[in-house]
Amino acid sequence: MSDSTRRHVMSAAALGAAATLAAPAGAQPAPPQARGGTSDPRSKHPRPPFPVQSQPWPGLAGRMQPRPDHGETSYVGSGRLRGRKALITGGDSGMGRAAAIAYAREGADVAINYLPAEEPDAREVVELIRAAGRKAVAIPGDLRGEDFCKRLVADAVRELGGLDIVVSNAGRQQARGSILELSTEDFDATMKTNIYAPFWIIKAAVPHLQPGSAIVATTSEQAYDPSPDLYDYAQTKAATMNFVKSLAKQLGPKGIRVNGVAPGPIWTPLQISGGASEGKVVTFGATSPLGRPGQPAELAGIYLRLAEDDGSYTTGNIYGAGGGQGQP
Ligand code: NAD
Ligand code: MG
Repeated sequence: MSDSTRRHVMSAAALGAAATLAAPAGAQPAPPQARGGTSDPRSKHPRPPFPVQSQPWPGLAGRMQPRPDHGETSYVGSGRLRGRKALITGGDSGMGRAAAIAYAREGADVAINYLPAEEPDAREVVELIRAAGRKAVAIPGDLRGEDFCKRLVADAVRELGGLDIVVSNAGRQQARGSILELSTEDFDATMKTNIYAPFWIIKAAVPHLQPGSAIVATTSEQAYDPSPDLYDYAQTKAATMNFVKSLAKQLGPKGIRVNGVAPGPIWTPLQISGGASEGKVVTFGATSPLGRPGQPAELAGIYLRLAEDDGSYTTGNIYGAGGGQGQP
């Protein structure tokens, strides 16, 4: 790709069109070659207190202190998704980025969706996918509209040449201390992002999914034990947990598996851009038995497990990573 072509493609991506992006040479560290051994889970990753910080929604991982670990320098693949084609919403940061890195290093081509404001994070992910030798497709756009959700799936299918993994991971969480502070606009935005968008995306994707395909949705410990300041968000995660089980029954006879991931407190932009109060950010994860929040990298293996062929009898299940106090 020439420089001028690359510039054109990048600006097309910024405008919301699907684009295959090239990685600037040498921008990312080489993936590690091996894993093993043990580490103390209490001290493996940063512990609170964390610096006081907040960013305007949706926030950037690249501006967090400390930077979240999505497996950039640690995830080692072994060909477990060779030849697969994945669409990941919220693939720029957090759990979506961890899944994107893992999937690419396991041999999958990966399309990511994110908001246009998240382009700096998304470019890093595109570089990481390309550094793994896989095709990266960047499809920015707002999931709160049905037309965009349909186009997202159509663009991903066209650019990837098919689709067999859908990770419905994007989510909106904005804490409100009281139901009296929760506006109808807030409530609507949370429902559109967390409930309608997965419905629109999965509905558009199912006709393309062959037997052996997998759908993975990100729910939350909030589905089971809701916090008082997450009245709207928590009920969407209960709905996600529920639709996983319904769809698994509906799509099992077609050979399509549907599962969910229920994280506990994980260090991501969602938390420092309104998801948690500033006070909560400083002590984030402190009440966990491990004394710290999780890092997105620590969930990559779960997203892999639920998508890979080796997990062929796992459907209608929710896998947790709660740090010792969440459910399931
Ligand atoms: P994150 O901020 O890294 O990811 C959320 C992503 O959602 C954003 O990157 C953004 O791209 C996407 N998004 C939000 N609104 C959108 C919209 N209108 N259109 C398009 N994209 C939109 O944070 P994360 O914590 O990795 O979140 C990923 C998932 O994990 C979410 O569903 C969240 O609810 C869930 N979750 C997070 C935690 C946690 O503690 N961080 C715990 C349980 C569940
Ligand atoms: Mg993001």
